[in-house]
Amino acid sequence: MKRGGRTVAELAVVACVDYNPTRVREALEELLTRIGGLDWVHPGMRVGIKANLVAAMSPERAATTHPVLIDALAGMLLERGAVPVVGDSPGGLFNAPFLNRVYAASGMQSTRAELNRDFSTREISLPEGRVCKSACVTGWLLDCDGIINFAKLKSHGMMGLSAAAKNLFGSIPGTMKPEYHFRYPNPADFAGMLVDLDEYWKPSLHLVDAVLAMEGNGPTAGTPRAVGYLVGGFNPHKIDLLCAGLVGLDPGTVPTLRAARERGLCPERAEELEIAGDWKAFVTPGFVTISQRNGLQFQNVMGGGKRGALFSRFLSRHIAARPGVEKQACVGCRKCQEICPAKAIVMKNRRPVIDRRACIRCFCCQEFCPKGAMKVRRPPLARLLER
Ligand code: SF4
Ligand code: SF4
Repeated sequence: MKRGGRTVAELAVVACVDYNPTRVREALEELLTRIGGLDWVHPGMRVGIKANLVAAMSPERAATTHPVLIDALAGMLLERGAVPVVGDSPGGLFNAPFLNRVYAASGMQSTRAELNRDFSTREISLPEGRVCKSACVTGWLLDCDGIINFAKLKSHGMMGLSAAAKNLFGSIPGTMKPEYHFRYPNPADFAGMLVDLDEYWKPSLHLVDAVLAMEGNGPTAGTPRAVGYLVGGFNPHKIDLLCAGLVGLDPGTVPTLRAARERGLCPERAEELEIAGDWKAFVTPGFVTISQRNGLQFQNVMGGGKRGALFSRFLSRHIAARPGVEKQACVGCRKCQEICPAKAIVMKNRRPVIDRRACIRCFCCQEFCPKGAMKVRRPPLARLLER
């Protein structure tokens, strides 16, 4: 593709084996050279770096974008005369005390980027939105002259994959997030809302930290896995399709990829992407993902319509993943009960009990359990069918 009069790749993946600052800088430079990534940055611009700061967790836990990467990017922006500002709104309060804890734990205070201290929220309208027509968003991103979406590669309880497309849900204030889960309880609608948000923000650049990724019980309680690369490009869905290919995840099980494909925003398979370099050399065998096979996938098999919807409902009841508590790991802190947007959790004998009929499978309880005690469970029929 042509960018600033130069022919550059739309999508690239480069090796980055660890977070050594020198190697990180070299890898980021190589990636950005391939995609012409910072050609749009001008002196004086305020560039918002939308990191993944999902919780107050240290970089070694692989839940958040690594501070060495944020620092390297901030350095490059400063060299171009821009003002880099890093921020996010994880689940919880969107205020200084809460975010200070997140900045400190995630190492953001050690970077050269300014830490976002604007905790205002604003209403926006999304006239082009297919699912979401209006939203309440964090004000700081609206005031930036350009946005860089710097995500983390993780498995995800609700969406299967957390990479570029999912990361912009952090533009919704943390206190509002349960309401969005409740407003869009169906994974397809939730994914449609995310694609609407991605289309609204249209960041100037998307980057994914896949040096140390998270596999298994993501996005906060999974296992760090060294996979050793950085991904960058201009289309979040193509990036996610590539990431799915790299970790061996069926793109048909990722609701945002399905929604994006239906809108013509990305192809069906990673093999159809135009990528700088040999991406297959970066494929990570045996990466543990959370398969999201659910009724969505079977609607077309039944020809859509009423029959398809009924079949889909049956399958989602008997096949879709659901949260389940690991009693030995649970400490009875009630965090899951407090965060549940559907009020589907009650505590009995200091352990959570989930009302399956009320549960909307948003996996907020799994995401925010501080002990990793809430797991994504696959019903027996689902496991049988997957064999
Ligand atoms: S948040 Fe986790 S540890 Fe706390 S009560 Fe729920 S399952 Fe148990
Ligand atoms: S029980 Fe968990 S997955 Fe179900 S609605 Fe509540 S927070 Fe979401």
